[in-house]
Amino acid sequence: MVAQKISGAEVSRAIEDDLVAQVSSLRQQHPSFSPRLAIVQVGGREDSNVYIRMKLRAAERIGIQAEHVKLPRDITENELLARLTELNESPAVHGIIVQMPLDSQFDIDGHKVTDAVSPHKDVDGLNTINEGRVATGDMGGFIPCTPAGCVELIKRTGVPIAGKNVVVLGRSKIVGTPVSELLKWEHATVTVCHSKTRNLSEITKTADILVVAIGRPEMVRGSWIKPGAVVIDCGINPIPDATKKTGHRLVGDVAYSEAIEVASHVTPVPNGVGPMTVAMLMKNTVLSARRQLERLLAP
Ligand code: NDP
Repeated sequence: MVAQKISGAEVSRAIEDDLVAQVSSLRQQHPSFSPRLAIVQVGGREDSNVYIRMKLRAAERIGIQAEHVKLPRDITENELLARLTELNESPAVHGIIVQMPLDSQFDIDGHKVTDAVSPHKDVDGLNTINEGRVATGDMGGFIPCTPAGCVELIKRTGVPIAGKNVVVLGRSKIVGTPVSELLKWEHATVTVCHSKTRNLSEITKTADILVVAIGRPEMVRGSWIKPGAVVIDCGINPIPDATKKTGHRLVGDVAYSEAIEVASHVTPVPNGVGPMTVAMLMKNTVLSARRQLERLLAP
C-alpha cells in the first residue's frame, strides 16, 4: 500500500479562503471593524522571526491587522506582564500571542506569561483556563493551534475518529497533551506516550491513528506503524544537508519514506502540520474578533 499524502498546505489554503470570506462579510456589516492580532516577541531568535513572518503574511492575506510587538531582550518579567495587561485592556486588539521560546536576558516564567494573556484573547489557547476547558471537553474557549490543526487533518482524511485507537507520542503543553485531550473528546481511545514509556514501537503498532510530537528526527520507523493507520507528524527538525543552500533541511519525527509504504494517510514535513498551525491561529483570531463584536453589540 502507498499512503495518501495529507496536504496541510492545501487544507490550510481552504481554511484561509473561508476566513477571507468571513472577514470581508464582517467588514461589509461593520466597515470600521477589523480583526486585530498582537504578536509579542521578546528578543530576536531567528527561528521565531521565521514563524512570526509566516503569521504576519497569513494575517495580511486574510485581512487581519497584525501588530508585531517587539520587546528587547533585557525586558523584565514585570515589564512584559505590564505590556500584556495593556494589550488585554485595548478594545482594538482581539487576539494576543507571545512567541515562544522567549529570548530573554532574565529568567522569565513562561507559564506566568501565557497565563497573563486574557483567556478572551488567548488565540494560542495556552492560558490555563483555556487548557482546562479543552481537558474537560468544553470547546467554548480557544483550542490550541497545532493540536486543532492535527484534528482537522485527521478529519479531512474521512477516517472516523470515534472508537479508534489513537496513540499520541509526546505530552508537551503545546502539542502532545492538548491533542490527546481533543482526540479523547472526539471519542477515540487515547494512549499517551513519552520519554519514559516502555516498548514504544509495540504501542504505536496498535494505533489506528498515530500522532507524533517528540522532536526526534525520523525516530518513528515504518515497522512501528500499523498497516492502514493515519499518521500525523508534528515534528519540525532541521538536519544537516550539504546539498541545500542553508546547509540543512527539515524532517519530521516520522521516517516519511517508510511510513508511506505502510500507512493509509501520512502528513509530510514540511507542508503538513506546520501550515495548519498558522491557519488555526488565524481562525482563532477571527473567532475572537467575532465574539468581541457580538459582546459589544449585545443589548
Ligand atoms: P517538547 O520537547 O516540549 O516535548 C517533547 C515530548 O516528546 C515530551 O513529552 C517528551 O517526553 C517526548 N519525548 C522526547 N523524546 C522521546 C522519546 N525518545 N520517546 C518518547 N517520547 C519522547 O516538544 P514539542 O511538543 O514542543 O514539539 C514536538 C515537535 O513538534 C518538535 O519537533 C517541534 O519542533 C514540533 N512542533 C511543531 C509545530 C508545528 O507548528 N508543526 C508546533 C510546535 C511544535 P517527556 O515528557 O517525558 O520529556
